[in-house]
Amino acid sequence: MVGRETAVVLGGSVAGLCAAGVLARHFDTVIVLERDELPPDARHRRGVPQSKHPHFLLNSGRRAIGEIFPGFEEALIGAGGMHLMPSMDAAYCENDGWAPRKSGSMTMVYSSRVLIERVLRDKVREVPAIEIREGATVTGLRSHGGGTARGRVEGVEFRTADGDGYLAADLVVDALGRGSSVVDWLSAAGWAAPPEKTLDAKVTYTSRWYDLPPTGERPASWWWRHLVVTPTQDTGDHPAEHEFLSNFFPIEGDRAIVCMGSWGIEMPRKVDAFEAAVDRVRATTFGRATRACTPTSEVHLTRSTGNKWRRFDLLDVPPIGLVCVGDSICAFNPFYAQGMSSAARSALILGEMLRGRDALDAAFFREFLGRQKKALDVPWMLAMARDQAYDFATGTEVVAAWRRRLAGRLSWPIFNAINAASREDAYVERTFAEVFNLDRSLREMAADPRFWFGIARYKLRRRLGRTVVPGGFDDREDPPGTDYTQLAGGTSGDRGGDLVGA
Ligand SMILES: Cc1cc2nc3c(=O)[nH]c(=O)nc-3n(C[C@H](O)[C@H](O)[C@H](O)COP(=O)(O)OP(=O)(O)OC[C@H]3O[C@@H](n4cnc5c(N)ncnc54)[C@H](O)[C@@H]3O)c2cc1C
Repeated sequence: MVGRETAVVLGGSVAGLCAAGVLARHFDTVIVLERDELPPDARHRRGVPQSKHPHFLLNSGRRAIGEIFPGFEEALIGAGGMHLMPSMDAAYCENDGWAPRKSGSMTMVYSSRVLIERVLRDKVREVPAIEIREGATVTGLRSHGGGTARGRVEGVEFRTADGDGYLAADLVVDALGRGSSVVDWLSAAGWAAPPEKTLDAKVTYTSRWYDLPPTGERPASWWWRHLVVTPTQDTGDHPAEHEFLSNFFPIEGDRAIVCMGSWGIEMPRKVDAFEAAVDRVRATTFGRATRACTPTSEVHLTRSTGNKWRRFDLLDVPPIGLVCVGDSICAFNPFYAQGMSSAARSALILGEMLRGRDALDAAFFREFLGRQKKALDVPWMLAMARDQAYDFATGTEVVAAWRRRLAGRLSWPIFNAINAASREDAYVERTFAEVFNLDRSLREMAADPRFWFGIARYKLRRRLGRTVVPGGFDDREDPPGTDYTQLAGGTSGDRGGDLVGA
C-alpha cells in the first residue's frame, strides 16, 4: 500500500465515526477531529442539536453500521435499544383510520439518537488505530494545485484550547455535517464550488421528551410501543394539527419522544402550545397517551431540514485526497430517516474502494464520487418524490406547477394504496419496506409489474368486497390490538421475515 499512513476525519458524529471505523482497516493511524467534548454517556451536545428529535435507523443503515462495527446492534440493544416489528408493535393511523396489526417483513431497533452515537463511540474506542481529539475545531485545509488536475488536499488546520495545530494527511474525510465549510476552503484554494441541488419543503419538527407511566398504570388498550399519525388528506375544515406527521417514538429507559412535524405549517415552540397541539392531533390516543406521561424536557424545534446535495461528482477536477460523507455532502428532509443510513453507506463504499485499489490518485476519487452518487440517488429520489409536491418549497429542484400538482395529487393516494394492499399482499408490503429502508430504489419499485399487479388486485378485491383484513378503524377510538396476521395469510405470532440480512 502507498500513502496509507494517516487519515484525518473532520467531525466525530455518526458519519465521521462510521468513516473512521472503515479507515482503521486501511490506514496506520486515523485521527478524528471533533469540536465538542464528547460525553461518556448518551447525552446531547452542542454540535448535534438534532439529537433532541426522533431518529429512525433504517435497516440498510443498521446493516451497514454492523458491517463497520460488528456487534453494533447487540450493543445498542444491550444499552436499552428495543428490537421491534413496527407492523406489530406500532399503531399506525393512516388516512382512513387505524391500520390493522399484523406481522410484517420489517423490524427496527428503536433508541434515542444520543444512544446510537454513544454506542458508536464505544465501538470506535475499541479500535486502537483510531484517536479522537476532542475540543479540536477544524479551521481550514492545506492543499496544493487547487483546481488543477493534480490538485490535492494535504492536511488539516485546527484549533484547540492549547492553540493552533496542523495534521498532514494521506486522506481527509469531511464529516462536518450540514454546516461544513469545506467548500469555502476549497474555493479559496482554487477549486470550483460544486453545483448544489437544493429543495427546502419548509419542514419543521417540534419534539418533547417524556417518561412513560409504569406498565401497570397504562390502560389495556395501550398494547403499542410506537404511535404514528400521518397527515390527513381530508380537504374539508380541520385543525392544522390534522396535517401533522406525529410520532410517539419509544426510546430506551421507558421513555418516549413526542414529535410533531409538518410541511409548511407553523409549529408550536412553547410548552402550552405544544400540549394544546398534542390534544388536537386527529387520533385522540396521541393526546391521551402524551398526557399520561411525565414531561422531562422543554420543547425543541428545528427548521434545519432542507434537502441539500453538493454535487462534487459534477466537478471537472474534484480534489484529490478528500472525500465528503454524511450531511456535509448530502442532507435530507429528516421525515424520510435517511441521513444516518446514507452516511454509513458512503463509509462502506470508501472501504470497498480502499480494499480494491492501491493508489489514492485522481482516478480513485473520481470513481468514489461516481459510486457515492449512485448510492445517494436512491434516497434523494425518494425525498424529491414527496417534497416536490409543495408550492411553497424553494430551491434548485422546484418543478413546474403541473408537476407539483401531479405529485400532490398522486403521492399520498399512492402511499395509501400501497399501505392498503400491504394488508393482504406480502410482496407489496415487502417491496415497499425495502424501498423505505433504501434496499431498493423507487425506480425499481416503479418498474416492478408484480408490485403494481398486487395493488391493482387488492383494489379490485376491495371493490368486490373480497378483502379479508379489515382496516380504517375509527381514529377517535384507541387502536385495535387484534393480531390479523393469520387472516392476512401469515402465521400468527410470526415475528420473522426480518429484512436484516435479506
Ligand atoms: C430533526 C432531524 C431529525 C432527523 N432524523 C433522522 C432519522 O430519523 N434518521 C436518520 O437516519 N437521520 C435523521 N436525521 C439526519 C441525521 O441527524 C444526520 O444525517 C446524521 O447525524 C449524520 O450527520 P453527520 O455525522 O454527517 O453530521 P452531524 O451529525 O451534524 O455531525 C457533525 C459533527 O461535526 C462536528 N463539527 C462541526 N463543525 C466542526 C468543526 N469546525 N470542527 C470540528 N468538528 C466540527 C459537530 O460537533 C458534529 O459532531 C435527522 C436530522 C434532523 C435535523
